[in-house]
Amino acid sequence: MSQSGYIGRFAPSPSGSLHFGSLVAALGSYLQAKSKQGKWLVRIEDIDPPREVDGASEDILATLSAYGLHHDDRVIYQSQQSTHYEQALKAFKQQQLSYNCDCTRKIIKQQGGLYLGYCRERALSAEDNALRINVAKLAQPITHFYDLLQGEVTLNKQQADEDFIIKRKDGLYAYNLAVVIDDINQGVTEIVRGADLLPTTGKQICLYQLLGQKTPSYIHLPLVVTEPGLKLSKQNHALAIDKQNPIPTLLKALAFLGHEVPALVNKGSCESILNWAVKNWCLTKVPKQTEIQLLSP
Ligand code: GLU
Repeated sequence: MSQSGYIGRFAPSPSGSLHFGSLVAALGSYLQAKSKQGKWLVRIEDIDPPREVDGASEDILATLSAYGLHHDDRVIYQSQQSTHYEQALKAFKQQQLSYNCDCTRKIIKQQGGLYLGYCRERALSAEDNALRINVAKLAQPITHFYDLLQGEVTLNKQQADEDFIIKRKDGLYAYNLAVVIDDINQGVTEIVRGADLLPTTGKQICLYQLLGQKTPSYIHLPLVVTEPGLKLSKQNHALAIDKQNPIPTLLKALAFLGHEVPALVNKGSCESILNWAVKNWCLTKVPKQTEIQLLSP
């Protein structure tokens, strides 16, 4: 437990090096945790081997360190957490909260793109099938939640009713399952991340409720986009941020989050800039948009 009870985290997927957008998420979650005298954890989300890039985990950790973003406790790797995921799957099964499904993406697309619970009563075996959570077992679908930056967030009603996948047909654990189980096991009290994950939050709250666990608070930071709707990402070949000369990029990320560092401080080291930023961090200064366009991030 941290001094204050606050535990935050940054949870990158090792699909490439850190880019400016991921630095913003790392920095926002770090400053929010440290300004609350909390702990800041780093978790490598390596549950999707086909999307992983060799050496990316080490590179991400080295980059965080070059930017002075030092984590508390040891780094957790999702690839080593399968016992915990299996335990959760067992609990869901015992309470009949999940079921197997053999519907292909093509079939679901033909039915309008939304999965309508066709396999709920079919009692299919686990072999070669996906595993879905039965959302109808919730007292109420999750149609909205409160975000400490974005305010009241309304989710798509049809998506809220959809039985989503928690283990894929190919045997890989779904992101929504892994992220919730790890956040529970690591005692995370508040999740600070990019606004691209707003739509998945309803599914995650659903899992917390079915597991009878307290939901953390949420802060979804504005996304860095290069044109409306196009987020900076490893997939669209965003440039890796500079490890050799971190200060200009760190200052730019702070400015993106609404914090201009005074001239007296900005000549120092990453550590002295971060010390200033922890003391002066103020969530109300962070822009409330879900995306902000930068021409040359
Ligand atoms: N691993 C996810 C990503 O890199 C972030 C998960 C999260 O913060 O909940 O997009």
